[in-house]
Amino acid sequence: MLVVMDAHATAGQIEQVCRAIAELGYTPHAMPGPTRTAIGITGNRGPIVDADRIGRLPGVRELIRVTAPYKLVSREFHEADTVVHVGDAEIGGAAVPVIAGPCTVESREQLLAVARAVRQAGAVALRGGAYKPRTSPYAFQGLGLEGLRLLAEARDLTGLPVVTEIMDAETLPAALECADMLQVGARNMQNYPLLKAVGRSGRPVLLKRGFAATVKDLLLAAEYILSEGNPNVVLCERGIRTFDDSARFTLDLGAVPIVKQLSHLPVIVDPSHASGRAARVVPLARAAIAAGADGLIVEVHHAPELAACDGEQALTPPTFRMLMGQVERIAAAIDRSLAVATGSALS
Ligand code: PEP
Ligand code: MN
Repeated sequence: MLVVMDAHATAGQIEQVCRAIAELGYTPHAMPGPTRTAIGITGNRGPIVDADRIGRLPGVRELIRVTAPYKLVSREFHEADTVVHVGDAEIGGAAVPVIAGPCTVESREQLLAVARAVRQAGAVALRGGAYKPRTSPYAFQGLGLEGLRLLAEARDLTGLPVVTEIMDAETLPAALECADMLQVGARNMQNYPLLKAVGRSGRPVLLKRGFAATVKDLLLAAEYILSEGNPNVVLCERGIRTFDDSARFTLDLGAVPIVKQLSHLPVIVDPSHASGRAARVVPLARAAIAAGADGLIVEVHHAPELAACDGEQALTPPTFRMLMGQVERIAAAIDRSLAVATGSALS
């Protein structure tokens, strides 16, 4: 349910409505807009029986039933596009940002080489996993705390904000010391305690679509984060499992305009995990921008043949630079632009 207030409703009237909602056992979310304030109502006690009581309060213009199961993430609740700030970078505006870096933090030398290369090519944020959700327990699991420390060093050297994956709530305090954006990976998209924990943290979250998740599942997972008071969520399409096994996953680009229609949250695309092969990453990345994605997250490695994880899908720095030029031209063709890093540090 959404309570739309009169354009001239006073702060006291808005507060009175919020109080009445809370008294009924629901949570009010006041959302000031350019012309009027709307107050979203969420809760898990079923439909409000006594909605009329709210509708009669002074300053209330109308009550709108929100039919979607997700509320705070829906366009019905919040019409304007949300822009998420990650360090100096913006995701969800007209300019298209590219996040890039290695799959995994392997060593100081590797991370700094890749970080410098992607910074020089125009990436606005650095990705890199310190904790890796590997399908096999015998695959490299990441450097853990040492990886987080190296990411912080790379940020200091390049000025790029850091995006890194978190797999459990226990690691959150350490990750918060280094991460400008917390990634919740495909395998954890429905790890509800983790979603609540990153929601409470308030830190921007990159929420990747689970590979057996519908768009509705993805939006409901995001709802967990927003319902904890954290509106800074960026969704990521990264490929789903289908009957076709010719690529690592099937990139569902059709989901991009669907998510944009249903939700105000930014949606970016990960062409690396979707395709699994470097040669296929570039065409998928181009198509993602053309389809209206609000950005890309791409794996880059200075020596892919030596990578500890996902080397087959890593772009080399020269290929990544070429891709950035193409993204810039495709963005311009659809009246967008390529976001540029504004931080000055680069060594
Ligand atoms: C990753 O980005 O490193 C990753 C593991 O991706 P996903 O969760 O999409 O598989
Ligand atoms: Mn990877």
